[in-house]
Amino acid sequence: MLDSYDLLPAVREFAQREHLLLIDGEWVPASDGGQIDVIDPASGGVLTKVAAATADDVDRAVEAAARARHGKWGKLSASRRAKLLWAIADLIDQHADELAQLESLDTGKPILEARWGDIAGAAAEFRYFAGWCTKWTGEVLPISSGEFLTYTRREPVGVVGAITAWNFPMLLAVWKIAPALATGNTIVLKPSEVTPLTCLRLGELIQDAGVPDGVVNIVPGYGHIAGAAIANHPKVNKISFTGSKRTGRQLMIAAAEDFKRITLELGGKSPNIVFADADIQAAVRGAMAGIFFNQGEVCAAGSRLFVERSRFDELVDGIVGGAEKLKARQGAGVDPATKIGPLVSKEHMDRVLGYIEKGRSEGAELLTGGGVNADAGSGFFVEPTVFVGKDELTIAREEIFGPVLTVLPFDDLDEVAERANRTTYGLAAGIWTSDLRRALKLAHRLEAGTVWINSYNMFDASSPWGGFKQSGIGREKGRYALEAYTEVKSVWVNLEESDA
Ligand code: NAD
Repeated sequence: MLDSYDLLPAVREFAQREHLLLIDGEWVPASDGGQIDVIDPASGGVLTKVAAATADDVDRAVEAAARARHGKWGKLSASRRAKLLWAIADLIDQHADELAQLESLDTGKPILEARWGDIAGAAAEFRYFAGWCTKWTGEVLPISSGEFLTYTRREPVGVVGAITAWNFPMLLAVWKIAPALATGNTIVLKPSEVTPLTCLRLGELIQDAGVPDGVVNIVPGYGHIAGAAIANHPKVNKISFTGSKRTGRQLMIAAAEDFKRITLELGGKSPNIVFADADIQAAVRGAMAGIFFNQGEVCAAGSRLFVERSRFDELVDGIVGGAEKLKARQGAGVDPATKIGPLVSKEHMDRVLGYIEKGRSEGAELLTGGGVNADAGSGFFVEPTVFVGKDELTIAREEIFGPVLTVLPFDDLDEVAERANRTTYGLAAGIWTSDLRRALKLAHRLEAGTVWINSYNMFDASSPWGGFKQSGIGREKGRYALEAYTEVKSVWVNLEESDA
């Protein structure tokens, strides 16, 4: 099956090799020999098999991480940790084309998006957090009574259990690994069982960079087995999760048992709002990128497009035309001509098609798309789909996580602010207007962790990421991430002379 793709030899070899678990610096099979098929979403065929970690495997990984925390790693200076993080970034850059092909093959995403979004983003993240290693400090406190030197230290939280989703497999893992290592923690990572390949290759690169054994352990496996074992392990001090609300809720319950620290990056139903005075060409491009980037498999997808009524038809025509052009360029992600790939799995495709059917049956007007694109290949291709709908429809309320847009007309700022916030989610939002005063007024009213003005889907290692309301708890990226991976300790030193 891989013969039809133009792949680097290293990618061809890696994608067909059977993969193991990384525990305490060794690559080992699952304790019960269990494996999971890795599927090529563009063809539906099996690429290879990966070991499926058991609870015993997770236990060994956590024990290794707990030991490593107090071993050589725990004694490294901050500047030596910085050097290691920088070395990982350099290795990612050196292998960027290979990693991008692997990511594209495993997820289906277009190769250019993988290369310049996922992989370049991962290297940038390691460099950003390498800088923080030597700059994340405590403070000396002005105590009000008595003579004391009182200061705070930022200490690692301990063993971090990281559990991640399938849509940006390596990048989401790096959003956790980089700040966790920068602050001196050790990690047990369980990548999604659907797309484990780049995280396993990253494990090799982390070893090549010289990170001590046991500091980063990688245990692909099923959520209800390996993921649950991480969540329930008494020596895991913090859970860092990216995925669905349903799993996030289960993890919070598990974390409550022994009060594990927890951060959750969950879903969204983000509003993208276009005012009549916007640069309409730019807004069309922004709306398209907002919903069709990464096949719409983006937590921040701008899946509710609010358009001021006077420019509604013009904007909708632009998007429908764009969606149809995109459909003509739908294909396998590793083909450089591809602009939009397949969905990640048959199960997910059926889920997205179910939402499209619901849109139809609840009375939304289908403008383009709405089905499988069989011309794109035998894999899980769903056409870029545009509906005109109403706020109360299922497609305008629930996260679809696919290339399905609902366009909604509005008349004024107060109205659109209220409707945009009428959701249980609060991850991101977009605003398109040439009136900066209006943009800022609205940006401050929107209940969302990130607001993009005259842009969409912009990310940077320095800019915090996370959700209001049911889109999550805590922030990743930027200096805010460092807080999530450290405990604050106050140290009091009595400076008063004893009378005796
Ligand atoms: P998911 O919740 O099904 O799975 C996520 C991870 O959790 C996987 O590794 C899975 O194996 C594991 N898991 C599943 N059940 C588990 C359990 N009982 N205990 C422990 N671990 C378990 O989510 P998904 O389908 O992989 O990802 C899609 C979701 O992720 C969407 O809702 C999307 O919005 C969200 N997401 C959010 C962000 C963000 O930054 N906010 C980024 C990407 C994806």
